[in-house]
Amino acid sequence: MFNLILFGPPGCGKGTQSDKLVEKYGLVHLSTGNLLRQEIKDKTPLGLEAKSFIDKGQLVPDEVVIGMVDSYFDQHKEAKGFLFDGFPRTVAQAKALDKLLELKKTEIGKVLILSVDEEELIKRLVLRGKTSGRSDDADENVQRNRQAVYKKETLPVADYYTKSKKVGTVDGMGDIEAIFERLSSQIDKKIKQ
Ligand code: AMP
Repeated sequence: MFNLILFGPPGCGKGTQSDKLVEKYGLVHLSTGNLLRQEIKDKTPLGLEAKSFIDKGQLVPDEVVIGMVDSYFDQHKEAKGFLFDGFPRTVAQAKALDKLLELKKTEIGKVLILSVDEEELIKRLVLRGKTSGRSDDADENVQRNRQAVYKKETLPVADYYTKSKKVGTVDGMGDIEAIFERLSSQIDKKIKQ
C-alpha cells in the first residue's frame, strides 16, 4: 500500500493536483473538505455542525473529522493506497491517522508540500470564489483567516512529518502540468526505492 499526503495552504492547488494524481497512481482520494461539503449538501447533523466552522474559515473539530476518516477507511477496504488531501490539518489528526494506518498494517509513504506565495493564494481563492459556489471562498476576510489558521494549526503538521524524513517540497507556482510533473517525479522516486 502506498499512502501519500498532499499538503499545503488553502488555494495551493491540492484539489486540482489530487484529481490528476489519483488517476495516475490508482489511489483512493480522501479529501476531508469534499466529504464535509457532501455532508452539508445532504443536510446531515454532521454537515450542519461543520458548516458553522467552514463558513468562518475555522477548522472543524478533530473528533468530527477523525470519525469521518475512520468510516471512509471502512468503506474502502480494498484500496491499494490513499491520497490524503486537506487532512491531517492538526498534529492531533496526524497522530490519529498514524494509529488508524497502523491498524491497517500500513503507514504514510510520502508527504509532498505544495509551496505557493501568500498573495498568489488569496488571488486564486478570490477568483475561485466567483465560480466555485463555495460559501468559504467568496469573502477575502475569510480567506485571510484560513491562511492564518493554516499557519497556526496546520504548519506544525509538516514539522511532525519532517522528523520522520518523509517530506518533500514542490514549487506550486506556474503551470498545472509542470507542477504535476514535479509531484510525479518525487512520487516515482519514492515508489522505486
Ligand atoms: P478544503 O476543501 O480542504 O479547503 O476544506 C474546506 C474547509 O473544510 C476548511 O476550511 C475547514 O473548515 C474544513 N476542513 C476540511 N478538512 C478539514 C480537516 N482535516 N480538519 C478540520 N477542518 C477541515
